[in-house]
Amino acid sequence: MEVMPEINYKAYSLHNFRSIPEMKLLSEEELFDIEVVGHVLPFKVNNYVIDELIDWTDYRHDAMFRLTFPQKDMLSKTHFDKMAAAMRKTSDKQELKAVANEIRLELNPHPAGQMELNVPMLDDIKLTGIQHKYRQTVLFFPSSGQTCHSYCTFCFRWPQFVGMDELKFAMRETELLIQYLEEHQEATDLLFTGGDPMVMSYKVFSSFIEPILADTNKTNIQTIRIGTKSLAYWPYKFLTDKDADQFIDLFERIVQKGINLAFMAHFNHPQELQTEAVARAVERIRATGAQIRTQSPLLNNINADPDIWAEMWRKQVNMNMIPYYMFIARDTGAQRYFEVPIVDAWHIFRKAYQQVSGVCRTVRGPSMSCTPGKVQVLGVNEMPLNGKMEKVITLRMIQGRNPDWVARPFFAKYDPNAKWMNDLKPAFGDTFFFEQELEQMYHEKVDQGEHANFE
Ligand SMILES: *Cc1c(COP(=O)(O)O)cnc(C)c1O
Ligand code: SF4
Repeated sequence: MEVMPEINYKAYSLHNFRSIPEMKLLSEEELFDIEVVGHVLPFKVNNYVIDELIDWTDYRHDAMFRLTFPQKDMLSKTHFDKMAAAMRKTSDKQELKAVANEIRLELNPHPAGQMELNVPMLDDIKLTGIQHKYRQTVLFFPSSGQTCHSYCTFCFRWPQFVGMDELKFAMRETELLIQYLEEHQEATDLLFTGGDPMVMSYKVFSSFIEPILADTNKTNIQTIRIGTKSLAYWPYKFLTDKDADQFIDLFERIVQKGINLAFMAHFNHPQELQTEAVARAVERIRATGAQIRTQSPLLNNINADPDIWAEMWRKQVNMNMIPYYMFIARDTGAQRYFEVPIVDAWHIFRKAYQQVSGVCRTVRGPSMSCTPGKVQVLGVNEMPLNGKMEKVITLRMIQGRNPDWVARPFFAKYDPNAKWMNDLKPAFGDTFFFEQELEQMYHEKVDQGEHANFE
């Protein structure tokens, strides 16, 4: 393989994006719109995305442009006007930040349940950098991985990036993680997440891994997963960055220890799979023995089209990756711009799934990660109800807060406008089968006299 020249990472955000040469293509009004929305939603874009992923000849309709540059329609008119008015009135950073924070709070920065129900305890210490929701899998949010190579405009993790520290899941201490894993032998999977854990340097990342490799009998970890968008946003991480070779070597050592190493790679659009850099990075990672599984939310204005998904899955399989999840985007941030109703999501999934062969059908979805679990939309059926034929939505859990809930079909009233689990009503009886138990869990753990919800 030919050697690739080293590419230096350069990122742009609100304060310097006007210096990107391509910004000359935009009108002053478009630049101002980016500034307004960029005050509220996360905005950071790097030179790889600008030079290799965005098609500037038609940037207004370009998925990668919309995925990384804030768009006017991502805010409601009220919120947009409020932020724009503040910007015309003052350039005081603190004042602008206060207005932005007011708007952010109205955008539901952290769905209830996630924070309270999933944060585990170790003796008396609240482990805010860990989430343990499903028996087998522990999620770890290293504090040095709370950023990304570029930011996605849809991202529900945005509170972590915009300096609202109290909302940040973060934990520095490896010891606490290891101790927790030792005490929880039911956990077979450790999933690094963020932000993007692949923004970490080798030195920091390996400090979390080495204690596990040093004694593989202490914990019961059999799979290490890395949830990352780096293959889409910065494949040079695995090619020409200074510590790229050390990372590759570490991945090899993990595999050689008999631990399954799986990248959970986020790809939202086929454009992210077309560069030479991503092809080479995938090859290098796969050559270590690591697997790459892929996932993405279904996003209006980006990928809400069956042909796009079929192309993505096909291409991923051709590149030696395994399609894993299609998610329904959750209710937060710029939801209004990206949302796709549940029933439409199922139609898109089905039409895409029908186009590909069995090797791509490892993908599961469309799925909602909500308080009770990962709820998969199986489809719309007609059933005799109250003496006449009526439509229902058939669902099941791929993951459940209680493992016993998994893989039981259940039914919701047909509602073509429903966007999320909490919009759905049971088709039979007053409650879904898991509701009472969920309520109980909520009271045991949170006990604020509030009702559990399905967020
Ligand atoms: C999706 C998810 C996992 C992993 O689930 P798998 O089905 O094993 O991929 C673990 N924890 C949380 C909180 C999740 O949302
Ligand atoms: S890379 Fe992942 S965590 Fe980062 S902004 Fe995009 S979706 Fe969010």
